[in-house]
Amino acid sequence: MKQRAMVLVLSAVLALTAASCATREANSEADDGAANGGARQLARLLRSLDSGKVKVVDCSFTYSPEMPSISLPPQFGQNPPFELHPISRYDEKGPAWYWNWFKMGEHTGTHVDAPNHWVSGKANVGVDRMELKNLIVPAAVLDVTKQAAANNDYEVMRDDLLGWEKQHGRVPKNAMVVMNSGWGQRWSDAKRYINQDDKGLPHNPGFGESAVEFLLKEREIAGLAVDSVSTEALALAGGKKPNPYPVHFAVHAAAKYQIEAFANADQLPPAGAVLVIAPIKIKDGSGAPARILALVP
Ligand code: MN
Repeated sequence: MKQRAMVLVLSAVLALTAASCATREANSEADDGAANGGARQLARLLRSLDSGKVKVVDCSFTYSPEMPSISLPPQFGQNPPFELHPISRYDEKGPAWYWNWFKMGEHTGTHVDAPNHWVSGKANVGVDRMELKNLIVPAAVLDVTKQAAANNDYEVMRDDLLGWEKQHGRVPKNAMVVMNSGWGQRWSDAKRYINQDDKGLPHNPGFGESAVEFLLKEREIAGLAVDSVSTEALALAGGKKPNPYPVHFAVHAAAKYQIEAFANADQLPPAGAVLVIAPIKIKDGSGAPARILALVP
């Protein structure tokens, strides 16, 4: 009897030990999963970039003195165009090095409009304190090239977004909604890009209020991007009531941000690309020039 009891106790101890080992193993696998899951995902991304399964599209235009620049009605302050000034180029001012200094506005060239850009978003963060995870986001790209070719003041409508959703599903959470109007093709011709009429009024496509209201109220977006000079169809937006420039007013009131002069929108798929948006970190800036990369499957 004693022997039998001993065997029972021993087997119980062994079973408990085995169970506790199994639990420890399972726990450590779970820990591993948590600790290495992210590393595995990043390693997979790097392999995909290396193999070309994921390609990178440059969504910033090159900053140069020739590039288009917005001009406001003369009673307002003006955003300066880009200037590049040499310091030295392997010469007597610096025999072994090349460098320049530059001058531009926060809103010159491809740039971000920070959440504090508009009076409706006065209390919002500046470009230096934007939430970083909102700068790596999915892109929902709307093709309105035909509409904008027919009407240079075209405004993206709620129906354009519903049409996109019919084909590609709901606008993803935290998406950057990108207007591809064909204006990007005009970038190398500043006159055609700004497209001023005889009275100096610029004609460019942008977002309409119905689309913006839909995206801000019924979808969870990071912001809006346009391949034109402004998210507003400028010829129409200045005279709108009760708020002139209603897209800026609404987007920044909602503490969201915008991208203007977004490049190569025509090289992105309607859905599936991921944007990496890197505005210069200007203290309390209202916006900043940005290098924008799209990861495209
Ligand atoms: Mn701007």
